[in-house]
Amino acid sequence: GTRADDDLLKGLNPPQREAVTYRGQALLIVAGAGSGKTRVLTHRIASLLRGREAWPSQILAITFTNKAAGEMRERVAQLIGDSAQGMWISTFHSACVRILRREAQQFGFTKSFTIYDSGDSRALIKRLVKEHEADAFGLTPASVQGRISKLKNELADAESFARTANMSDPAERLFVEIFADYQRALQRANAFDFDDLIAQTVYLFRAFPHVADVYRRRFRHILVDEYQDTNHAQYALIRELTRPVVGKAGDAFSSGGMMIFEPEQAPEMEGASLTVVGDSDQSIYAFRGADIRNITEFERDYPGAKVVLLEQNYRSTQNILSAANAVIGNNFDRKDKKLWTDVGAGEPIIGFTGYSQHDEAQFVADEVEAIRKAGVEYSQMAVFYRTNSQSRALEEIFIRSAVPYKIMGGTKFYDRAEIKDAMAYLIAVANPADELSVRRILNRPRRGIGDVTETAIARYAAEEGITFRDALANASALGVGPKIQQAIVRLDAVLAEAAEIMLPSSGEVAPPTSVAEGLSLLLNKSGYLDALRQSKDPQDEARVENLDELVAVTREFARNNPDGTLLDFLTEVALVSDADDLSDASGSVSLMTMHTAKGLEYDAVFVTGVEEDLIPHRISAGEPGGPQEERRLFYVALTRARKRLYLSLAMTRAQFGEVTVAMPSRFLQEIPHELIDWRQSPGDVNSRGGMQSRALNARRPGGGGGFGGGGKRYGDDLVPLPPREKSGSIEKFANRIPAKVRDNGDLELGAGDRIRHDDFGEGRVDMVTGEGAKRVAHVRFDTAGPKKLLIKIAPISKL
Ligand code: ATP
Ligand code: MG
Repeated sequence: GTRADDDLLKGLNPPQREAVTYRGQALLIVAGAGSGKTRVLTHRIASLLRGREAWPSQILAITFTNKAAGEMRERVAQLIGDSAQGMWISTFHSACVRILRREAQQFGFTKSFTIYDSGDSRALIKRLVKEHEADAFGLTPASVQGRISKLKNELADAESFARTANMSDPAERLFVEIFADYQRALQRANAFDFDDLIAQTVYLFRAFPHVADVYRRRFRHILVDEYQDTNHAQYALIRELTRPVVGKAGDAFSSGGMMIFEPEQAPEMEGASLTVVGDSDQSIYAFRGADIRNITEFERDYPGAKVVLLEQNYRSTQNILSAANAVIGNNFDRKDKKLWTDVGAGEPIIGFTGYSQHDEAQFVADEVEAIRKAGVEYSQMAVFYRTNSQSRALEEIFIRSAVPYKIMGGTKFYDRAEIKDAMAYLIAVANPADELSVRRILNRPRRGIGDVTETAIARYAAEEGITFRDALANASALGVGPKIQQAIVRLDAVLAEAAEIMLPSSGEVAPPTSVAEGLSLLLNKSGYLDALRQSKDPQDEARVENLDELVAVTREFARNNPDGTLLDFLTEVALVSDADDLSDASGSVSLMTMHTAKGLEYDAVFVTGVEEDLIPHRISAGEPGGPQEERRLFYVALTRARKRLYLSLAMTRAQFGEVTVAMPSRFLQEIPHELIDWRQSPGDVNSRGGMQSRALNARRPGGGGGFGGGGKRYGDDLVPLPPREKSGSIEKFANRIPAKVRDNGDLELGAGDRIRHDDFGEGRVDMVTGEGAKRVAHVRFDTAGPKKLLIKIAPISKL
């Protein structure tokens, strides 16, 4: 290689180098977590550019999140300097939006189409289910939406589905009708839902080969990260993009400034080179249609493909890696991979069992502070959980303990009603055909426009063959009272005025600041802000602040995108995904779901709620392959940690207004017990040094330790598992309390009594709630503070 190459290859091991320098048509890199797959992709791009083998514009790299795309772009720029401009490094969805904005007019859309998120499409489907009275046939909006999404991920439309469905079943027939209506409604609204972004791009390429050829000529090097989580539609998209260009003279070329050859001189071209990297052990999106076969069958689809295996892990300590390897080794449908590291054993994994999720959260907060003092930055710590609702307890304790934190994906800023309203105003301006948005803002703020008027507008629009939005401009023809008429006229005028700022006609380009200006105008002149300010609801104050924040976001957008248009802004917002942060997470601990954690790494990771029914989640029990997918998810969580890994759980968990009793996750038992240093073990909690904890620490021949050890993985005589189908109620738990564990029987306790607890010391009972085995003592401990205890089993005695 050249000197430039040496520089790029310096920080790589031999198989990584091979992957960076290989120059064939198809390259598959399969490797476990933390083995440098993403790093190899980044260096490969840099190497192509630096060797002048490719123009930046010839590179299309697909990442799983926008955040990952930003990081990859930055890394490439660091490696080779500014020539990283012009590359497409983005998610599948963003890439497809860019293509569709250029090409939508080819098939009946305009470039100002709206992107419907899952809430938008749910609203639309809800209306259709109601119109078809389909709930009588057991069709719910959620089930219809789920099925449509699944079908789109498999590239099926209503028509093709109808050919295979059992159409003598009335429910199936209704479903097909709703699916077809839904698709028509989207088209009328000039909108794509999330799944459409991919599926319609594939459709576009297949229906218009000359359009596809433009992109095939352009993208000569296609690279896909996290390939194990692509679904069929995404697979097909890549397949379309990597086909050879036949280069027939006379092809009508499109479009959008992308023409790089005159048709007559367009040569034939072999397909683009394709590099995919993935780890089938980290496939965690089967529920969204991800298909591991895309990776396992790569060699069949791309004959002659080169396969590179990476085995050295550079992220984690040996202890963390051993735990992760042991867990994933229990999945039976996998190729065994040997991941190793040379960084040494490192710290032991730390385990903790709390009484409640608050107890668990307190442990996390305390430990965060402790390792912060030991020099770990907050930004290098992350807390993972399986479900979003688990974040609440963590947040409460973090706030109380003044630990700075940031929820990734969970804040759902753009899901707040007031933000959705504001976005609907912007969309109504950008894409007047989008009826959903216009309907949404019709009576927000309240202007006295009710259902009757809304129906009258819709009817008038249908009669006249005009859009819902255009019907607003004919308020006097609607047959509504003068006051309502006036309200409609005013709304129409505000939208028109904003359009003048944000979408100037006569070929003028709107300055990017116009989005902020237009938004302010809409919020002020529509009366939206005034209504919130005059409200006495304290929540509304927070809503005003959120809207201020949105205006700030548009300003920042203008700063970052000097050429940004209203459409660009709407696209950016529509594609904000769970892992993408609104603001800077530096200086705070990151909280996120295990799904969101994919691809990330932190010095210290807290995996919380390591309990049956959470991980594996109870909904997975009935799904084919469900528990295995949950194990992969747990594997993803463990392998995010560089140096410190914490596993915690709680004995009881209050969720949905009900206290449920938790059991340790089966995955915990799969970790060799000597790797975990239990600060407070599942056995300690109710009987210090009792059977459970002895069982936990016991090593049985052939059994490998774990909860109760034994040959069987779970379900032994000491720690019964909760029933698979649902989490146990307290009563059920009381029945399942192992005989040898503490049982206080009907210990009499009342307000004012003083008690002693094995762990918490002395305290005073404030009150007792519940009955029988469910009796709970609310105790204020002298030093440990307030706790709630299950009287039957807590290690307490009356003083
Ligand atoms: P995941 O499966 O979790 O996505 P990955 O295989 O993509 O992981 P990377 O994120 O690319 O792994 O790499 C993991 C860490 O190891 C990163 O911090 C990366 O910079 C580092 N790393 C990778 N290869 C090397 C190497 N040869 N020398 C030093 N550090 C490396
Ligand atoms: Mg990666």
